[in-house]
Amino acid sequence: MILRPAFAERYPSLVCALSTRLGGVSAGSFGMNLSYSVGDAPEWVTMNRKKFFGSLGIAIEDLVFQHQVHGDTVRPVVAPGAWQETDGLCTSSPGLFLCVTVADCVPVFLIDPGIPAVGVVHAGWRGTAARIAAKGVRVMAERLGANPSGMTAYIGPSAAVCCYSVGKEVAMRFPGSCVVREGDSFRVDLKQANREQLMEAGLRSDAIEVDGSCTICQAGLYHSHRREGALSGRMMGVIGMRRSG
Ligand SMILES: [Zn+2]
Repeated sequence: MILRPAFAERYPSLVCALSTRLGGVSAGSFGMNLSYSVGDAPEWVTMNRKKFFGSLGIAIEDLVFQHQVHGDTVRPVVAPGAWQETDGLCTSSPGLFLCVTVADCVPVFLIDPGIPAVGVVHAGWRGTAARIAAKGVRVMAERLGANPSGMTAYIGPSAAVCCYSVGKEVAMRFPGSCVVREGDSFRVDLKQANREQLMEAGLRSDAIEVDGSCTICQAGLYHSHRREGALSGRMMGVIGMRRSG
């Protein structure tokens, strides 16, 4: 099963999609796991990747991967391959498809249809606290000529405020509008924090689509690091523009 934001229908050349845990060949709870780093059999991960990207009409050779480190580095890219220590990618090159790996962290997809240009960032609590979504918009504006007020964003499934409990030290790093406090326990709304950052970066509120689902409590649909531990399966999101013709 593959998720796509509603806004993607407006742009025929755009591919913006996310895998779930369903539809893969891996054993047990891995299912559609797309990470080689969590103890799954590599040949099954390869089959899952071929299945996921193949169903989107994307060749593996056209993908850009990032080895995410919960930082705030956003790289403009012009060629496929893999980047170390990167949590955000953007490009104005058609035929290049940018990947993000998630299992609770927030995937934020960005598009400026005017250029056109696309971007994606990986925003867990550390990346969100470091304002990587706003940085993604800024890098797309400065390096690719994107216009924030004309951009559209999709905030994908992630750990949601229903389940995302954090310690006080983490909660204090977020605006009060994104924190629910009950006595001594705190929950953070990472989607809302990213939404606010995108608006502060210049996006219109009605141009930000937010998926309300929660990777932690919707166990049938999503992998979750919080629920299953460090070796949980991983989902992937991808965004890019097909070459015309
Ligand atoms: Zn939940």
